[in-house]
Amino acid sequence: MQFDIVVVGAGPAGLAFAASLAGSGLRLALIEKLPEATLADPGFDGREIALTHLSMRLLRRLGAWERIPPADISPLREAQVLNGISSFALRFDDEGKDDGPLGVLVPNHLIRRSLYEVVQGLPEVTLLAGQMVASVQTSAQGATVGLADGRTIAARLVVGADTRFSETRRRMGIPATMQDFGKSMLVCRMAHDRPHHAIATEWFGYGQTFAILPLNGDGMEGDVSGVVLTLPAREMETVMALEGPAFDAEITRRYRHRLGAMRLVSTRHVYPLVGVFAQRFVATRFALVGDAAVGMHPVTAHGFNLGLRGADSLAREIREAIGRGRDVADRRALARYQTDHMRASRPLYLATNATALFYTDDRFPTRVLRAAALRLGSRLAPFRRAVVARLTEAGAARDA
Ligand SMILES: Cc1cc2nc3c(=O)[nH]c(=O)nc-3n(C[C@H](O)[C@H](O)[C@H](O)COP(=O)(O)OP(=O)(O)OC[C@H]3O[C@@H](n4cnc5c(N)ncnc54)[C@H](O)[C@@H]3O)c2cc1C
Repeated sequence: MQFDIVVVGAGPAGLAFAASLAGSGLRLALIEKLPEATLADPGFDGREIALTHLSMRLLRRLGAWERIPPADISPLREAQVLNGISSFALRFDDEGKDDGPLGVLVPNHLIRRSLYEVVQGLPEVTLLAGQMVASVQTSAQGATVGLADGRTIAARLVVGADTRFSETRRRMGIPATMQDFGKSMLVCRMAHDRPHHAIATEWFGYGQTFAILPLNGDGMEGDVSGVVLTLPAREMETVMALEGPAFDAEITRRYRHRLGAMRLVSTRHVYPLVGVFAQRFVATRFALVGDAAVGMHPVTAHGFNLGLRGADSLAREIREAIGRGRDVADRRALARYQTDHMRASRPLYLATNATALFYTDDRFPTRVLRAAALRLGSRLAPFRRAVVARLTEAGAARDA
């Protein structure tokens, strides 16, 4: 089999990258280990993805946005950060500018489904689902990807989009720095007695972190929120062993009854917290996108937003290169992608890791500093505006 580009991994980043090359005249193979039926109808995985305005624009341009049911798009009007046992809140809102919500929340499985539907309709993309990759080789002359079933695919560029623990990255000998936070994150949906007022809350408690993500409810169960609870792995096992009313009571208690009684209304999912940053995003006839390039700690909700931006940036460089009659894996084009994506992602990655470590360090001096930092942030209007601008990505990639 012969293609121009082989993409390994049909997660949201791999799918978005493939969709970004629609109409380019390039032939793409998309290799995914999950069966096609799962890609077509992925199950709820607990992740409520906070999308920036830039991501919404990019998804609209790819034709994926209108495939997401409007009832499943929840507006985020305000965000607040709480620390420890203090009732003080650092608030972020649009400061009366009426630019619409700060962002929106969309369930990850619906993003995946909509991108799959787009890609599935593209004649230039061949989806090889239910396939494992056995080998990857690239040289100045070309690239080959061996499948576990013995077939070999020849291409001119290979793109790795196969999770933050990317086997393709490893096969290409690209090192990555990893930050294991030693904690687990539980995500699920819960209904609650008190309203959420479309305000997202990040509460850095002592010994636990909560994020409450306000979702559109169906009015039957009261308001519903995405609940994100971070705990040391062993403590998480104890919480996950609780079922039914015992689990509901535990979360209600841990969240200090702020939302009244809480009731589980979805499946529960637990993710290990590991941040990953690849040392290089490109090599000869090779590029990394999505979590395979940068796997963010979810606390700042940047992972997919960055992945989407990176996929767009790589696709642009490729289009420009072939438009000038150059190779699809033009070295200068790949280098420009790497520079652009490193610049966009490294500061966020480092700041996110620092935030996650600072706000989960419960030693006394750090507790005091944590409280002081929030109060200082609240007094600095430029700081708050910068955070809101980052949330909305106002002004970024204006032509997106
Ligand atoms: C709890 C949680 C909350 C999050 N919240 C947010 C948020 O609010 N905002 C945000 O922007 N981001 C958020 N993220 C991050 C976001 O989910 C990820 O950045 C995004 O899913 C990455 O997409 P991806 O396609 O790179 O990787 P993945 O989603 O991991 O998909 C990779 C795909 O590759 C396939 N694959 C793996 N190995 C192979 C192989 N060897 N061969 C073939 N296929 C393979 C997998 O089956 C999968 O389909 C969150 C993450 C978590 C865990």
